[in-house]
Amino acid sequence: MIAPQATDTKHWRFHTDVEKIGWLTIDTPGASVNTLSREAIMELETLVARFEDLASSGELIGVVLLSGKDSGFIAGADISEFDAMSDFSVLPEALKRTHALFSRIEGLRIPVVAGVHGFCLGGGLELALACHYRIAVNDDKTRIGFPEVNLGIFPGFGGTGRSIRQAGPVDAMQIMLTGKMLRPGAARGLNLVDKLVRHRDMLRWEGRKAVLQKRKSSEAPLAKKALALPLVREAVANQMRKQVAKKARREHYPAPYALIDLFEQHGDDWRAMIRGEVDAFVPLMGSPTATNLRRVFFLSEGLKKQKVRGERFARVHVIGAGVMGGDIAAWCAYRGMAVTLQDLDMDRIKPALDRAKKLFKKRYKKKHEVDAAMLRLTADPKGTGVARADVIIEAVVEKLEVKQSIFKGVEGKIKDGAILATNTSSIELERIAEALDKPERLIGLHFFNPVAQLPLVEVIRSRFNSDEAIGKGASFALAIGKSPVVVKSAPGFLVNRVLMPYMLGAVERVEKGESKELLDAAAVAFGMPMGPIELMDTVGLDVGKSVASELGHPVPEGSRFAQLIAEGKLGRKTGEGFYRWEKGKPIKGETPNHPDLAALGKELVRPLVDTTEVVVGEGVVANADLADIGVILGTGFAPFLGGPMRARADGRA
Ligand code: NAD
Repeated sequence: MIAPQATDTKHWRFHTDVEKIGWLTIDTPGASVNTLSREAIMELETLVARFEDLASSGELIGVVLLSGKDSGFIAGADISEFDAMSDFSVLPEALKRTHALFSRIEGLRIPVVAGVHGFCLGGGLELALACHYRIAVNDDKTRIGFPEVNLGIFPGFGGTGRSIRQAGPVDAMQIMLTGKMLRPGAARGLNLVDKLVRHRDMLRWEGRKAVLQKRKSSEAPLAKKALALPLVREAVANQMRKQVAKKARREHYPAPYALIDLFEQHGDDWRAMIRGEVDAFVPLMGSPTATNLRRVFFLSEGLKKQKVRGERFARVHVIGAGVMGGDIAAWCAYRGMAVTLQDLDMDRIKPALDRAKKLFKKRYKKKHEVDAAMLRLTADPKGTGVARADVIIEAVVEKLEVKQSIFKGVEGKIKDGAILATNTSSIELERIAEALDKPERLIGLHFFNPVAQLPLVEVIRSRFNSDEAIGKGASFALAIGKSPVVVKSAPGFLVNRVLMPYMLGAVERVEKGESKELLDAAAVAFGMPMGPIELMDTVGLDVGKSVASELGHPVPEGSRFAQLIAEGKLGRKTGEGFYRWEKGKPIKGETPNHPDLAALGKELVRPLVDTTEVVVGEGVVANADLADIGVILGTGFAPFLGGPMRARADGRA
């Protein structure tokens, strides 16, 4: 018989059973996911004191820690508390207190077992690592990792040392430096988890067994630990720095470098690593990078709130199986929807199906999943899928008459309440909508190329649309795992509008004789993911030209830009544009020296930031926050600066 014992904790439930096993459940009140807030930590202190007493009097033989939420174990520390901290001087004390608490858990003489399902991230994983044994559910939902680096910090509750103890220095550093979320099999392979079970229901049984058998996880083997020994450690650390430098600069993203420094000092002594954590961690937390990255995180989480309850999207019909339509269809099928794909004939649909198969093979691990996704995607040259679809997306050639005639043709056939959307990138939505009996039905869903990689979908609102139609569009984008930003129908919408003056400005400078390598390097030094000339080549000079002229910047006759297009040198896709391209990479010449690359980058990016201000002023996006997250997601604009509007406000752009 289970005898529940009341606890006065809000975040935890605890009772012991007849076998004297203690069952500890974390269940953050009023939230769908568990987080380790300060209050939760303080309550856990009280509970651990009780475990110590009960263990010494023999009334408790072990503890099993589980989550009371369907969503998972623990998603991490409560990030909103970081921003609420007006003064980071309290942080060292708070961290030390948590360190002491986790050490007490580790020091308990009775086994403490963590049973994990769903997300076990950041502080959640750190708590699990302080337990003596870890069991995880081996399913598609379980994810284990340290995403802290994405927030400009690294694990601060002892996770640096304990992950090294378990997984060995190289693997542990790798997961902390990349923020990669591991599937259960991989986490088991790295010794972060000791045992996998098939189902959440089995966690209790296995947890009980682990307590009764006093199971204890073992440390990483010596062969792995050897890579942290004094003589090799410096070389290993330098190698890690090189890897990180390929992705992020120290001046923009200090956290991974600070973590490597910590490793270089203490990597062979996991306890010393934990002790060193606090001093290295505190300056990061209050840094502008971490503050901005938290803001980006919250803005991007805020986009998810646009979801309309009760909306279900099971069937999608895509018209136009070209670059965009084909990839949109594949993406929707990948995300579990039944998709019909229409084009003028089968021959034009076939390449899209082949590309879809490649995507599925890359993303899914198992053949049966690839086969099932292929079955969800049907070629439909006659367009019979329109009548049953919940969402109809048009992605045919960029010609007003063609788009109008398509919408006239389908309007009478669609289900009540179905979303009718165009992927146009330049035609005013109202002009397409005018051809419809009910122009209020047409919204824009503007995807970006490549669809599988770019997270943003601009949900375009015409003057005919209701909030409801737009809300549905945003909900659909969320349902396929994209981030929707609502933008008014205006030339270039948000992303193309702000990108063009920046890219064209750089092209103009190259035409006047400046080095393209230098300009690209300068933009990267500022914090852009790639330079403007490389970006123009990636987008395609023909696409760039058409967007430019639509925004009122026609490419001048006789310019190098016009000449390249005339020669069919359209950029990456044709193997040559401003650069020559090999194996998907531009061949760059020497970058000339420059005294202040970042300042030059700032100068190059200015038109982008100026235009973002204009766009916000015109009300094309509702506010500066949305502009920031939209531009970050759509252009890769330096996340550590918090977006163009924030960077301008901070005097950094
Ligand atoms: P694309 O030329 O690759 O594909 C267009 C497809 O539409 C072709 O397969 C064509 O056969 C088909 N089509 C033409 N008339 C049709 C009809 N009456 N019925 C059915 N199919 C028909 O073009 P794309 O690059 O995929 O662009 C499609 C749309 O997406 C355009 O509106 C474009 O502005 C927009 N867009 C393009 C990009 C990009 O980077 N390519 C990015 C965002 C949006």
